[in-house]
Amino acid sequence: MRVHLVNPSDVSFGVGVITPRWLYVLAAATPRSFGDPIVTDETLELLEIDQVRPGDVIGIGIHTSNARRGYELGRMTRERGATVIFGGIHATLYPEECRRLGAAHAVVKGDGDLIWADALVDAGRGTLQPVYEGGRVPASALVSARWDLLPPSSYMWASVQSVRGCPKHCSFCSVWRTDGQETRQRPVDAVIDEIVTLRRMGFRFVALADDNFYPTTLQDLKQASRRQDGERSRRLATLRQERFDLMDRLARLPADMIFFTQITMEAAEDPAFLKAMYRANIKGALVGVESVTEDGLKGIYKDFNPTGDNLTAQLQAFRTAGVHVLGSFIFGLPSDQPGTFAATAELAERAGLTFAQFVPLTPFPGTVDYDRWEKTMSGEMKLVNGVPLTRHWLLPPSQRPKLYLPHPSMSPDEIRQRTQAVWDVFYSLPAIWRRSRCISSLRARLAFVLISKLYRQMYANTGIATDSARSARSVAWARLIAKPCRRLFAAHPMPDLQAPSPAASICA
Ligand code: SF4
Repeated sequence: MRVHLVNPSDVSFGVGVITPRWLYVLAAATPRSFGDPIVTDETLELLEIDQVRPGDVIGIGIHTSNARRGYELGRMTRERGATVIFGGIHATLYPEECRRLGAAHAVVKGDGDLIWADALVDAGRGTLQPVYEGGRVPASALVSARWDLLPPSSYMWASVQSVRGCPKHCSFCSVWRTDGQETRQRPVDAVIDEIVTLRRMGFRFVALADDNFYPTTLQDLKQASRRQDGERSRRLATLRQERFDLMDRLARLPADMIFFTQITMEAAEDPAFLKAMYRANIKGALVGVESVTEDGLKGIYKDFNPTGDNLTAQLQAFRTAGVHVLGSFIFGLPSDQPGTFAATAELAERAGLTFAQFVPLTPFPGTVDYDRWEKTMSGEMKLVNGVPLTRHWLLPPSQRPKLYLPHPSMSPDEIRQRTQAVWDVFYSLPAIWRRSRCISSLRARLAFVLISKLYRQMYANTGIATDSARSARSVAWARLIAKPCRRLFAAHPMPDLQAPSPAASICA
């Protein structure tokens, strides 16, 4: 019995931007008695179906966007006599759908780190259960990935997770409901060991693929102290100190390493944290700005973000501290007006963002927004080619509406066109060239232009483009430039690199 692990994708670029970490975590969670799993990431190339033999086990991990392709793979591999097991966020939410449409024999719900081995052992014995409840694995038991199975020269960035869960509760996000609001920080040694393994292999760019790298804010600490909640104060202080301990160890890795993470805006009010990030070579962060208006932020439960001059100042604080920001914005919020698009483009420029993404509001399953939307749709079931609109992920990507939630004053097409226009402005050649001034050498500036264009092709044109010809052109273009781009990220392997030992604690 051989074990396959597949990350489904409708589009393949030949080269991936970030290693899909879950594949290699589950590879590590596969008992050695089953041999090395055969790992396929379809964002590189599609699964060669002939590889799958009767009696093999195939693990397919899905999120909402790739569920349809995952189901197709499930049916095809089951027809070839494989045992099909689904996992991932979408499978956790819709196990029945995996069985009905993906021909699943079993579904693993929640974290697969520990329970995946049980499912495989049962499959081997012929006692496979329909559902395995993985729950939320404690931080100390989260598994380190098997990076030795990574195909060589295929990815630009490696990915390591240092914390799971987010204490916030944004209405468009499923993270706090699936990964929980309790912070689960992995032991620093485990994180550093993985990063050292990756640097030995020649990765110097590493994404800290965390739900929220700054889960404990200064405000949280003040609040706990005001309430004289000693236990909470101590727990928060420990969590904060662990962040500083991790950053201190990162700072002592080879100087050519660069890290990128996801973080809430509140970190801008914490100069000590920003300073530690810079020292740790965390040179970039995705910051969810979402909206430039108070009403917009209130509507999505993200009013801990500032607006106006405070917003500009906070974004600039990252930049001043040496942390580049990829600002993420949502368009199509009920409070958005035609003027919001231009105001957002202007803010992105004024605040000195290095990269930005502008995404349409989409009700993803597992979110508060989705639950509300599904309720409003329960009266008349709107169908698109026979598929209920509330199951939009079952439609072929080309038939999916670009926007789902009705807007009080703008049509979906108007929102789509205005969104596309903001991408065009932000990623115009003169604007990219201006932003590339943050880099000194001409070679690096040219690399910045290439990467900016690649980012735009991979994420904007394939996502919000209306016609399939434009999408296909974008994929072809991205395939073409992805290979030379990857070379820009590669470094010489350092096979003898050792993990830096913990130093005396620095003050948080
Ligand atoms: S959007 Fe970010 S801050 Fe909000 S709940 Fe999700 S992970 Fe947390």
